[in-house]
Amino acid sequence: MINQNYLNLSESYLFSEIARKVKAYKEENPKADIISLGIGDVTQPLCPAVIEALHKATDEMAQSATFRGYGPERGYDFLREAIVTHDFRARGIDIDADEVFVSDGAKSDTGNFQELLSADCVVAVTDPVYPVYIDANTMAGRRIVKLPCTAENGFVPEAPTEHVDVIYLCYPNNPTGTTLTREQLKKWVDYALANNALIFYDAAYEAYIQSEDVPHSIYEISGAKECAVEFHSYSKTAGFTGIRCGYTVVPKAPSQPPPKGRSSSPLGGIRGGLHAMWNRRQSTKFNGTSYLSQRAAEAIYTPEGKAQIKATIVYYMENARLMREALTEMGFKVYGGKDAPYLWVSTPNGMSSWEFFDWMLHSAHVVCTPGAGFGPCGEGFVRLTAFGTHENTEKALRRISNRL
Ligand SMILES: *Cc1c(COP(=O)(O)O)cnc(C)c1O
Repeated sequence: MINQNYLNLSESYLFSEIARKVKAYKEENPKADIISLGIGDVTQPLCPAVIEALHKATDEMAQSATFRGYGPERGYDFLREAIVTHDFRARGIDIDADEVFVSDGAKSDTGNFQELLSADCVVAVTDPVYPVYIDANTMAGRRIVKLPCTAENGFVPEAPTEHVDVIYLCYPNNPTGTTLTREQLKKWVDYALANNALIFYDAAYEAYIQSEDVPHSIYEISGAKECAVEFHSYSKTAGFTGIRCGYTVVPKAPSQPPPKGRSSSPLGGIRGGLHAMWNRRQSTKFNGTSYLSQRAAEAIYTPEGKAQIKATIVYYMENARLMREALTEMGFKVYGGKDAPYLWVSTPNGMSSWEFFDWMLHSAHVVCTPGAGFGPCGEGFVRLTAFGTHENTEKALRRISNRL
């Protein structure tokens, strides 16, 4: 017998369909110089501080005195201490190194964490959404409630009208590139505490935040340590999509009894709560992130590393600014791109996402990502990314402008 829930997965044809259409167009028009503003991967190389750390760690592996075999499942202390110091204490957030679980990235952890929960939990996700949250919960047979994010509500989801047990939030958001302010995020923390719900907070794009009132971590909000698990990734922060490293923060369940009027803490549960359960799960099923990756991650917290990764983010965000300004000038309604490497662009003249995709490909030789591929509320939008080169970004914008 197989897990029948897999039959309920929707066919993920978005990126294969894009690839198919681009390939077909290229075959008919071999001279067309196609530029992709649909890239969901970073393109700039690893920074020098990371490369140096990788070389050094490799040399250590060549000597018996410094060779490392199996590492601690939760990650090496040197990295967990650096994370706590630079990502949390520097922002006045009290997170213990014991609450940090180093991982091979946020896709694995956002996908796997739901294993700790009953199949009866009801899960809320935003629409449009990063597909991993939906698919992982569909495989487990959970019911999913969608929270619409539209231009009308400013891409700020409203609380569900029925009880949900888990809410996935990703801010800055992929695909819309929009954010929640501290005040808007506080509403969700308050909702979770009042309704005994958990928040799974995906902070993969935290490093792109420019605005003062946008929180870098949900733990900036008081009460979040009682109801939220936070996922981080070095993929977009430091170009680690090939190297692989990230981490997840699982606060220890509060030792005091829950405040009056609340039955329990969402992070509680059996035998030491979700913290102990995740520790057990990871030490059983996860082999740890390689020593090399963890030394590479540690290097981005050095003064040189920090400056170097920031320079790359500035480079991408300059593309985002160019795109936002030029497209707005051309008359498009553009969202996001201020605190995220994504722009969410409303299609003109009531075109569908795929119609506009076709127009962009055929008329401007530019590839975008149809918003409808991220959920029904993505219809009528396309996602553009700032991960290209300056040169290609400018060229693509000139072409779109010329064809309008
Ligand atoms: C890219 C991305 C991640 C990061 O995934 P990794 O597995 O760390 O590479 C997580 N969440 C979202 C929404 C993303 O877009």
